[in-house]
Amino acid sequence: MSAPFATQLLDWFNQHRVDLPWRRDPTAYHVWLSEIMLQQTQIDTVIPYYMRFLENYPSIGKLASTDIDAILKQWEGLGYYSRARNLHKTAQIVANEHDGEFPNTVDGLLKLPGIGRYTAGAIASIAFDVSAPVLDGNVIRVFTRLLDMDDDVTQTATKNKLWDVAEDWVTETRAGDYNQALMELGQYICRPKSPNCADCPIQSHCQAFAHGTQNNRPVKKKKAPTPHYDVSAGLIRNDDGKLLIAQRPMDGLLGGLWEFPGGKQEDGETMEECLARELREELAIEVEVGELFVTVKHAFTHFKITLHAYACVYQGAMPPHTEPQAIEAKDWAWVTEDELDNYSFGKADRQVIQALRDRQDMLF
Ligand code: SF4
Repeated sequence: MSAPFATQLLDWFNQHRVDLPWRRDPTAYHVWLSEIMLQQTQIDTVIPYYMRFLENYPSIGKLASTDIDAILKQWEGLGYYSRARNLHKTAQIVANEHDGEFPNTVDGLLKLPGIGRYTAGAIASIAFDVSAPVLDGNVIRVFTRLLDMDDDVTQTATKNKLWDVAEDWVTETRAGDYNQALMELGQYICRPKSPNCADCPIQSHCQAFAHGTQNNRPVKKKKAPTPHYDVSAGLIRNDDGKLLIAQRPMDGLLGGLWEFPGGKQEDGETMEECLARELREELAIEVEVGELFVTVKHAFTHFKITLHAYACVYQGAMPPHTEPQAIEAKDWAWVTEDELDNYSFGKADRQVIQALRDRQDMLF
């Protein structure tokens, strides 16, 4: 059964669809790339990254044969770096095991790294015209309002219920347009605050509008406060004036990115003690921790950090070693300040680099 409002929604989309680069030639490669970039990220932020990626990697084969470090460098600033690592893995699987062609079914797409139910539905419907549903934050908002549903949408049971609705309502034909229309309606008309019901093409089907409850939908349980951590980082110089940087392990937060080494403060230790301990554990080195150079704040999805970066003087590797050891790091390097641009860093470390450049006169 198609959605009772499908015709009105598709007519509206015919007239109002926004021109986006990935809509001009919606091949599976283009749709996949845009959908991965759009996870947790605004359209305006994604557009220049998408354009640059296509320029550098016009085909999945080219992307598959590129080194992961180069891809992470291109991804720098977009955040959620596991997306870039999965992008690379998927490109290699598609290029090597599927002759460069994406699977054209939801089940086939779900087997690829980084592709969940939403992304599989989006690629299948938009690129292959398969009648497959999508459910993202915009669609959840539209559905809970259409149905005037007061279930808590942070609960898995509610999400499952909404997936069932999405399955029921997705159209047999033009499913890609129908899905994009729903998401676009959620973005521009059925907005989180003050939905523009007066211009809504499916208002006559909306129970929340009829009951005047649209501003109370969807119902979301209040989140627990976001945890905060203090983290130390060392700006460690050697006798040649070079800085020591370390590459994070590939798995986990900011995996594969470079950083000024350091780590999370533990109970009962000062920030200076924390830094000295982390450097021993991570790289087996001793440093003299000097002045606090800069403090920067950064928010991740589930926690926030304050990064305290200290000027440090390199004292040497811990015996029996003669140089740093990549113990809790993937790699390390001594680099000049200019060479920092050749490496991929997360946002907080980029702010530290900016502070280094802004405060040349105060260099230690
Ligand atoms: Fe959303 Fe208002 Fe349209 Fe209902 S009538 S779907 S609340 S914009």
